[in-house]
Amino acid sequence: MALEFPENTVLASRYVKQALPMMIKNNIPPNPCNFALWYAYVANRDAGLKTSLDNTIEKEGTCPDSVSRELFKKHVIKEEIELQKNLQDSLSNVIQELTGNVSSTKTGADDFTRSLEESLETMISDPDPVHIQDTVKNLIESTKAASHLADGFQSQLQAAEEEISALKVQLEQNEQEVYLDALTKVGNRRAFDKRLIELFQDEQVEATLVLVDLDHFKALNDTYGHLMGDKVLQGVAEVMRKVCPDNALAARYGGEEFAFLVEGPADVGAAIAESTRQLLTKLLLRKKSSDQVIDNVTASFGVAQRTSGEFPEQLIERADKALYEAKESGRNRVELAA
Ligand code: GH3
Ligand code: MG
Ligand code: MG
Repeated sequence: MALEFPENTVLASRYVKQALPMMIKNNIPPNPCNFALWYAYVANRDAGLKTSLDNTIEKEGTCPDSVSRELFKKHVIKEEIELQKNLQDSLSNVIQELTGNVSSTKTGADDFTRSLEESLETMISDPDPVHIQDTVKNLIESTKAASHLADGFQSQLQAAEEEISALKVQLEQNEQEVYLDALTKVGNRRAFDKRLIELFQDEQVEATLVLVDLDHFKALNDTYGHLMGDKVLQGVAEVMRKVCPDNALAARYGGEEFAFLVEGPADVGAAIAESTRQLLTKLLLRKKSSDQVIDNVTASFGVAQRTSGEFPEQLIERADKALYEAKESGRNRVELAA
């Protein structure tokens, strides 16, 4: 897989044509990291990247390797989490390898230029046809050597691009894991907070919060043990994943409390809550030895739709209040916030 270039080929080649002279002008080594960086710059993908590069070039006259690497990580790979150390190492290895290759290509090119200059000097000072023949022979050899170096660099570039793409995929996987609750595999609190902020960014978007709290879970833990408790949490999360529509998030809010963040009005949230409630009543605890049903699981739900001008904390508070009402009025029920 190549680095992502979603533009069509005409636009993409226009960007490349714009990026290359800028890189040469600012003395930027031609490695894949820098290609990707300057491509993103001319494509104007990211205002932050543009400002950072403009400021660095203005201050330093170029963009030092260390700065390029940071900008690449921040704007091209777009990490939202700390890079894992081994990934970071692999990435910097690739870049270092390339930097080494750039300098050997440069040395090769310098040698070539030098031999060209020497040949010219020989031709001017010694017009003997025999010597000219030697000079031409030397020139052909130098050209071959330079072109060999360029070929080597080209294949290194390709290999590095593939390696960087693989690292990018791995990073994306890691990033997804960062938002998953390890025990239940629904979103974790971090995912919940992130989605909540996203939903609150646009006043026009209808947003509903469903808080889910297992009933008498402490007693279940006390009776059957913590490991059984964990299994029940996993079962609840599985039900939630099944019920959760594409435009909603199912998450573990903390402990034995879960939540749905729904892009939609209160009745949509209430329907999701009711489906979950009904399915949960079918989650039965059985005795291992006899398969005999020994208990079941229920949960209570508080549903609140975001109102105009409300802050996220106020929405959580109203959903929590509704959840409390559901508990107070007998548990295993869905209660809508006032
Ligand atoms: P209520 O119906 O009023 O909600 O009662 P409850 O017992 O569910 O509520 P309470 O808040 O008293 O107890 C919650 C329990 O959830 C206590 C805690 O041990 C348990 N719990 C929290 N996190 C985990 C977990 O990760 N695994 C297990 N097994 N239990 C957990
Ligand atoms: Mg609780
Ligand atoms: Mg509870």
